[in-house]
Formats: sequence, structure tokens, C-alpha cells
Amino acid sequence: VVGLYRTRAVVLRVKDFGEADRLVTLLTAESGKVQALAKGVRRPKSKLAGGISIFSLGDFQLWQGKSLDGIKQVEIIESYRLLRENIEKMAYASYVCELTDQLQGERDADSGVFSLVIHTLAALQDYEDLDLVLGIFLLRVLSIGGYLPEINVCVSCGSVVPIGSSLVLSASGGGILCADCIRGEKSASAEALSLLRFLVNADYRLAGRIKAGSVNYQVVSLLMNYVTYYLEKRLKSSDFLDIIREEKGGFKSVNGSK
Ligand SMILES: [Zn+2]
Repeated sequence: VVGLYRTRAVVLRVKDFGEADRLVTLLTAESGKVQALAKGVRRPKSKLAGGISIFSLGDFQLWQGKSLDGIKQVEIIESYRLLRENIEKMAYASYVCELTDQLQGERDADSGVFSLVIHTLAALQDYEDLDLVLGIFLLRVLSIGGYLPEINVCVSCGSVVPIGSSLVLSASGGGILCADCIRGEKSASAEALSLLRFLVNADYRLAGRIKAGSVNYQVVSLLMNYVTYYLEKRLKSSDFLDIIREEKGGFKSVNGSK
């Protein structure tokens, strides 16, 4: 076969295709997102079957096709099985993968997103505080895309928003607002502003150590709304994630989340 190549990749999406095939969206280490066909994978004796599960990280051997590439072989490095077996973890991981799928163009050069996604999946698998992991992921992914909200000065008047102010995040304004400029926007607590500022420079090792609880829930809800605004659409997986987060946290009265 002409045009075989190898790449390390994570499976972002899997969709049935034709009678026995699946269409697989891969996020590759070197060349961004690639759509590839896993031929015959739904047949019982397919050698590919074990390797084409969503969230799996593997070394893929692909052949170049005219319109679609095809998966010839895969060697699994980490299957992240727990993310598929635990419904809460699955809801978070699905959202992370769908958001990445939406943000990444096909064959984009890697901008750090590949490494971010595999570290995020590992953190969702290993840690209990899934909101904390998601909060860090959202801030990183917004930063890579050039949409990181302004979190120090008011985006309306330019004055510094001091510690102890309530958090008002304006998606259309691109950042926080001070008390004078709030207008109709809903606000979250002062602790939420402090946590947001802290999470911008945080990493996933924190997720095993700090307990941010309901404040964290507020911050993640605001960041999810922020991301929805920039995508100009709601992700399918966000409905499921909202239900899981509300059931788990029970922190219903979050300003600005709904
Ligand atoms: Zn202001």
C-alpha cells in the first residue's frame, strides 16, 4: 500500500459508517485533527476493534486515501477505560473531546492542544474533583485559542477589579466587569474571582489536593457559558454534563450558570 504513515493520536469521536465500518476523528500529535475510516471494525473478528474506543490513546498506522485516510493498525498506549465505565467521568471527558473537535481544524499544526487533551483525560481518570480539572482545561484551551478572558481589569472601564469583588464574567465583553459596570449581568461570589485568578496558572496536580467545592462549580459554569458564546453553539455533550454536574454538586443556585 502506498502512503502509509504512523502517528500517535487520541480518539475524539467514533461514528458508525456503512455496514461494518466506523468513521473515527483522531487528534494526532503532529498534525492536528484527522478523519479516518476503520474498515470492518464492527465485524466480530476485527483486529482493530479494541483500539477504536473513544478517549483511547494509541500509535496508529494509517494509509492515505483520496478523500479519507484509513486505519490499518493501532497499538493502544492508554485506553482510559475508567472514563468509559464511570458515567460522571464519561460526561466530562465527552465534553472535553467534543469541544476539542469543534475548536481544532483538520490538519492544523499542533499548538499544544494534543498534549493538553491527553493530560486532561489522564487527570479526569485519576482525580475526583472533575470540575477543577475541567476549569483548568477550559482556561488552557481558551488561552491557546486566544480567547482567554481578561481577569484583572474591568473590560468596560479599564479599572482594576480588586480582590474581594464579586465575579462578573461578560462573554461579549471578553472578561470581568467591575461593580460599577455590572449593569444587568449576574454575579458570582468573591471567592469565585479569586479561584478564577488562581486556576489560570494552576496545573492538574492540584486537582488531587485542593477542595474548591461550590465555588469551583460556579467558576466552571461561567467558563462553560463563556465557551458557548465563542463557539456560537451549544455542544451536544453539554446537556448531559449539566445534568451530571447539578446532580453531583447539588449547587443549584448558581448565578449566571443558567
Ligand atoms: Zn468597570
